[in-house]
Amino acid sequence: MRITEIRELAVPLSGTVANALVDFSAHTVSLVAVVSDVVRGGTPVTGVAFNSIGRFAQSGILRDRMIPRVLAAPPDALVDESGRLDPARVLAWLLRDEKPGGHGDRAAAAAAVELACWDLLAKLDDEPAYRTIAARVGRRPRDAGVPVYAAGGYYHRDDHGGPGEHVAALRAELAGYLRLGYDAVKIKIGGASPDTDLARLDAAVDVLGSGARVAVDANGRFDRGAALDWAQRLGPYGLRWFEEPGDPLDFEVTRAITARYPGPVATGENLFSTGDVTNLMRYGGLRADCDVVQMDAGLSYGLTEYLRMLRVLEEHGFDRRHAFPHGGHLINLHIAVGLGLGGCESYPGVFAPFGGYSAGCTLADGVIRPGDAPGFGLEEKPELRDWLSPLMAN
Ligand code: MG
Repeated sequence: MRITEIRELAVPLSGTVANALVDFSAHTVSLVAVVSDVVRGGTPVTGVAFNSIGRFAQSGILRDRMIPRVLAAPPDALVDESGRLDPARVLAWLLRDEKPGGHGDRAAAAAAVELACWDLLAKLDDEPAYRTIAARVGRRPRDAGVPVYAAGGYYHRDDHGGPGEHVAALRAELAGYLRLGYDAVKIKIGGASPDTDLARLDAAVDVLGSGARVAVDANGRFDRGAALDWAQRLGPYGLRWFEEPGDPLDFEVTRAITARYPGPVATGENLFSTGDVTNLMRYGGLRADCDVVQMDAGLSYGLTEYLRMLRVLEEHGFDRRHAFPHGGHLINLHIAVGLGLGGCESYPGVFAPFGGYSAGCTLADGVIRPGDAPGFGLEEKPELRDWLSPLMAN
């Protein structure tokens, strides 16, 4: 099997949502297609994927550096001993002549191609990607699905209502998630005054019926003092978790929070390499029996690197059920099911066309199961199909 072509298209995220630091209305995502020389029904079997959500499309890095390297590689260099495409070898060629360290935009660029290789492998075997992933690492997939929570409670930059209206809108939003079958949610904090955010949190706990079903996410917004103040405020709520209180690379702040905050702390979505995760484990003070890690393969060189990160977590005593990847979309659902992770998130109604799941996925009682479509099933999402057509036509 050979790769004949790799295509990329920058796709805008729709909507006007924001967290404490980032307005997503100008964000884009790289949608990538890896075309093979295997033809079925007159069409080349093609893997598709994208670089998760939150780090922009990476068209230049892909076009100028990474795609030409893979297409120039000797075909035998990209397959394993059995002749099957090997995503790890593709990743090595994507990163050829790149210096170590400095894991920024290129980590997301490489991830889109590496993940498209997994989609291609699953399609070649005519099976959902979670089965391909589980088989590759010698596991039985969690066919019964994985826990999922609704990541919502964003700030809406086009909403100019008062605090009372914001709280009422949040209540309606969260009640809608319960009706859809979710039993846990996450809301943003740090983008409004503390009084307003606490009123929003009180409303969320009231709607869900328990703090244990509500997580809060500060998106790295707080300095050390503010993070500690919030840890004190949030302690009595008994929350599901307190996510990214401070800068994601300031492990001393993370350590200060985990030393004082009684409940779970979640972090990791802005760590893009095994080296960064090793430092988090060494210096962040995370508690293996309590805290939550959220690295996202789509932002961090793909599944090959994610597996290396999981190994580091397990070497430090973490059970993989404490891993809840950032990025509520089909790719991470298949990864969570295939690897037996703790669960995944979902973005009902936001981050289209990438966020959320397809009609073939089933959601009930806070558990989601992927559908049976081959690969990650991205073609099963009508709003994504609208972009896959121009990607293949350009
Ligand atoms: Mg987050």
